[in-house]
Amino acid sequence: MQQVLVLGATGSIGLNTLDVLARHPDRFGIHTLTANRSVDKMVELVASYQPKCVIMACPDAAAELERRLSDRAVTSVLSGQAALEQAASSPDIDVVMAAIVGFAGLRPTLAAARHGKRLLLANKEALVSAGSVFMEACRQGGATLLPIDSEHNAMFQCIPASVGGRPDTRAVEKILLTASGGPFRGRSRDELQAVTPDQACAHPNWSMGRKISVDSATLMNKGLELAEACWLFDCTPSDIDVVVHPQSIIHSLVRFADGSVLAQMGNPDMRTPIAYGLSWPDRIAAGVQALDLVAVARLDFQAPDLDAFPCLRLAQEAITVPGGMCILNAANEVAVAAFLAGEAGFTDIDRVIERTLEVVPAADCCDLAAVEALDAAARASAREELAQLAGARGGA
Ligand code: NDP
Ligand code: MG
Repeated sequence: MQQVLVLGATGSIGLNTLDVLARHPDRFGIHTLTANRSVDKMVELVASYQPKCVIMACPDAAAELERRLSDRAVTSVLSGQAALEQAASSPDIDVVMAAIVGFAGLRPTLAAARHGKRLLLANKEALVSAGSVFMEACRQGGATLLPIDSEHNAMFQCIPASVGGRPDTRAVEKILLTASGGPFRGRSRDELQAVTPDQACAHPNWSMGRKISVDSATLMNKGLELAEACWLFDCTPSDIDVVVHPQSIIHSLVRFADGSVLAQMGNPDMRTPIAYGLSWPDRIAAGVQALDLVAVARLDFQAPDLDAFPCLRLAQEAITVPGGMCILNAANEVAVAAFLAGEAGFTDIDRVIERTLEVVPAADCCDLAAVEALDAAARASAREELAQLAGARGGA
C-alpha cells in the first residue's frame, strides 16, 4: 500500500489525481491533501476521501477549515509553508504528486526530491526555475522522478528505460514536442491585443487551471516545457523540435537513430499520464475513454508562429543564459497574474518578460537561496515594468 501526498489537491491536476487514486483503494492510501485557500473545495475533498491530514498554505484558511471540520476528528489540519515541506519529507509518505501551480511549489517539491520519494512532477515551474538544484536534489535523495506533463510523460513512455529506471537517450536523435497551439492559434499579433482572460482560458482540448491556460494561449507553456524536457531527458534545445498538433491526440514523439519515430497517443485527459506516473512500470485503469481514431479522423501538424507568439522564442533564448529560465518564469508569473486580474493586456505578457530578461542580470544558481533571490529580483523588476506600461497608457 503506497501512501500518497497530493500537493495542490484542489486544482485541476489534484482533482484528476484523486479520481485515479480512488479507483485503486487496494494500491494507494490518500494520506495528505494540500491547498492554498480553497476551504469549500477542501471540505468536499475531506468528505469524499477522508485523508489523515490536510494542509492549507494560508493560515487563515486553515483556521476556517478547522472550524468547518470540527466534527471530523479523523482528519488533522495544519497550515503554512513549513508544514508542506514536512509532509513532503515525512517517512509516512511514499508518493508525492507535485501539483501546486508556479514557483510557490518549489520548496515542498524539493523536499520530496531530497527525501527520495516517488515524485510525480506536474509543477513544471519548480523544475525550470531551479534546474540543476532540482535535478541534484533528486539524484542525492534517490527520488524516482516521473513526468506528469502530458508531453513529457509521452516522451518518457517512448524512450526505453536504462538500468536504474532513468530514460536511456543514447539512441534518441530528436524529441518532437507537440503543442496544441492554444485557443488563439492562427491569429496575428494585432488580433491578440484585445483578447480577454476568459477567452485565453477557453482551451480547445484541455480543461486546466487558469495560469497554465494562459501559458498555453501565449505558447509560454511550450517554452517552459522545452526547458523541462532538457532537464528530464538530459538534452539541449537543439535536440527538440516544437510541432503544433491542434487535435492533442499525439502527446509527443521521439525519433531514434534508425529512423523510427514513436508517438504516444490518447484522448486529451490528464488521468492517463497521472495513472502512468502512479503505476509505472505497470499500467492501471485511469477511467479514460478509449481513443476512437475514426471519430478523430485526421491529425494535423504545423510549425509554431513565433511572430504572433514570441514567448516560445523568449524561452528558447533564456534557456541558454544562466538563470535565464528562473527570470523568465518569475516575470511570466507576475505578468500572467496581472493579465488575469485585468491589470494588463495579453500582449503585455511577452513585453514584460522580454524587458525583465534584459534588465535582471543573469546569475548561475548553485543552491536554493540563489534561486529564490533571482526569482525575487525578477518579480520586483517585472512589477516595475508592468507599472511603467500602465503609466505609459495613462493608467496607474
Ligand atoms: P490549478 O490552479 O488548478 O491548481 C493549483 C493548486 O495549487 C490548487 O490546489 C491551489 O490551491 C494550490 N496553490 C496555489 N497557490 C499556492 C500556494 N501559494 N501555496 C500552496 N498551494 C498553492 O493548477 P493546475 O492543476 O492546472 O496546475 C498545477 C501544476 O500542474 C502547474 O504547474 C501546471 O503547469 C501543471 N500542469 C497542469 C496541467 C493541467 O492539465 N491542469 C497539465 C500539465 C501540467 P487553492 O485551490 O487553494 O488555490
Ligand atoms: Mg503539457
